[in-house]
Amino acid sequence: MRKKTQLIHGGISRDKHTGAVSIPIHHASTFKQEGVGNFVYEYARTGNPTREAVEALIRDIEGGYRGFAFSSGMAAITSVMMLLSAGDHVILTDDVYGGTFRVMSKVLSRFQLEFSFVDTSSIEEIEKAIQPNTKAIYVETPTNPLLKITDLRATAEVAKAHQLLLIVDNTFSTPYWQNPIELGADIVLHSATKYIGGHSDVVAGLVVVNSEELGTKLHFIQNSVGAILGPQDSWLLIRGIRTLGIRMEEIEENTKRIVEFLQNHEAVSKVYYPGLAEHKGHEIHKKQARGFGGMVSFDVGSGEKAEDLLSRTKYFTLAESLGAVESLISLPAKMTHASIPPERRAALGITDGLVRISVGLEDVEDLIEDLAQALK
Ligand SMILES: *Cc1c(COP(=O)(O)O)cnc(C)c1O
Repeated sequence: MRKKTQLIHGGISRDKHTGAVSIPIHHASTFKQEGVGNFVYEYARTGNPTREAVEALIRDIEGGYRGFAFSSGMAAITSVMMLLSAGDHVILTDDVYGGTFRVMSKVLSRFQLEFSFVDTSSIEEIEKAIQPNTKAIYVETPTNPLLKITDLRATAEVAKAHQLLLIVDNTFSTPYWQNPIELGADIVLHSATKYIGGHSDVVAGLVVVNSEELGTKLHFIQNSVGAILGPQDSWLLIRGIRTLGIRMEEIEENTKRIVEFLQNHEAVSKVYYPGLAEHKGHEIHKKQARGFGGMVSFDVGSGEKAEDLLSRTKYFTLAESLGAVESLISLPAKMTHASIPPERRAALGITDGLVRISVGLEDVEDLIEDLAQALK
C-alpha cells in the first residue's frame, strides 16, 4: 500500500458491525461482559474501540508493532518516559520542544531520572554523553525553531551498539514524510495536536513502538497512568489523518514558494529551512525523509522588527502551535521558548528577531502578499 492509500485504508477502516465507513464514536466507559472475564473490551481506560481504531491507524502509517493514543503530546512523552526507572540516564536533543525540556528538567528529574541535553546533530556529541546508566536517546528532527537535523540511521546504530532505546519525536516531519521506526528507532511519538489533527481543534498525542515487548510495557503504563485519548478526539484524529498526505503535499509546495520569497527579501537576514541546499543537515534530512515540511524560521534583525511584523500579518495568525490548515506566525524568544533562560536561548541561536511560521493551505499568493506588506 502506498502512503496516501494507507492513510485512508490503514488501521481499521470501517465499522465491522454496520459497515459504516466512518468509525463510530463509542462514548462508552464500560462494556457488558458475556461472562466473568469473557469480553473484548472491559473498561475504556484499558481500551475503547474508537481509540483502538486511531491506535491501529498510526501503527500502520508509522510501520510499527503497536500504536497508542494519549490525551496530549506531553502525556504521550511522559508515559513513554515511564518505561524508565529511577537512576536511568537519557540523552536528549538540546533544542527539544520547550514542554519536553520542562517536563524532563523540572518534573521527571525529581524522580531521579537524569538527563543530558546535547547537540544530537553531531553523532560524536551523542557518543560522548553516554554513561554506564544511559538507557535511552531522545531526539527531535527537525527541531524547533532552527530546524536542526539529527541523522536517525547513525543515531540508531549508536543506540543499538549500546543497547539504548531510540525515541524520536516525529511531530515536525509527520508520518507522511518520515518514518523513524523504518530507520531503526524503537519508539516514535507525535504531538498529534499539530499536523496529524491538522485543523487546530484537538489536543492529542500518539506513540508507536517497534516490538511486542515495548507494546505490552507501554500498554501497562497507559492503563496504569490513564492519560488516554477520549473517543471524540480519537475520531477527530482519524478524520485528520485521512487528508494528511494531500495537506502535506500542498503545504510543501506553498512553503517552497514562501522560502524563495523570504530568501530574496532585503529585510530578512537568514532563512532556516531543511529544504535549502545550504541548510546544515539538508543532505541527511533528504536521506531519511521524503519531504521538508511547512516549518520555516527567519531572522529580521531585532525583537522590535519582529514584533512589528507579527502585528501586521493578516492571514498568518499570531498563535502558538503549528501544522494546521491556517498559517501561523510566532516569535519563539517571547512565546514557545520564553520559558528557556535567555543565556540558553542565546547559546542555541534563538535570537530575539527570529520569527517562526507554520505554512498552511491558503493560496500561496495571498500568503506571500501578506508577508510582503508586513515586512515593508
Ligand atoms: C506541541 C509539541 C509537543 C507537545 O504536544 P502537546 O500536544 O501540545 O502536548 C511535543 N513535541 C513537539 C515537537 C511539539 O511541537
